Amino acid sequence: MSEQRKAHPAHTRQHAKTQHEKSQEDLLNELHPVFKEKVNLILVDLRKIGWEPKIIFARRTEEQQRDAIRRGASHTMLSWHVEHTIGLLPAGSRLQVVRGNAVDIVDRRYGWEGKAKSKEFQFWKDLGTAAHKHGCQWGGDWKPVKYKGKDGKVHTGDQRDVAHVQMFYTEEREQDSFTA
Ligand SMILES: [Zn+2]
Repeated sequence: MSEQRKAHPAHTRQHAKTQHEKSQEDLLNELHPVFKEKVNLILVDLRKIGWEPKIIFARRTEEQQRDAIRRGASHTMLSWHVEHTIGLLPAGSRLQVVRGNAVDIVDRRYGWEGKAKSKEFQFWKDLGTAAHKHGCQWGGDWKPVKYKGKDGKVHTGDQRDVAHVQMFYTEEREQDSFTA
């Protein structure tokens, strides 16, 4: 760090943002405008009933997604948090390409701790209700998957991702058909 940088008064340094300190507005602005509007409506609904919703991240880079898979937080590179995941959204008579449109929303007072450790916590349910109301998909609806464990037995994995909200899309095709 240069002497000049260190000499900056404290109040100007406070405004410097790092990757991890993005404002809520910055995170919203990373979203597709259609999705941004829906997310705003979801936040308004939650605030109206007393919650303090906070977006924790919006887009992930491919590298961040690989990290998320390593941590077990995500199971696929085809995630709406990743920019290269694309889908089609009906826009009048045309189809619009949308990319990387997912957010994770928590109540800032709980995060993932305390009552929020339970997937049955009321905040998650209210988030799901608000997401559905505004035409979005909610990660709390993900169906359990069966997988074979190291012990050779079939286990059922709870895939519910209760903080996750993503753009609803009507059609799924091979990625190549868009990217070619
Ligand atoms: Zn998510």
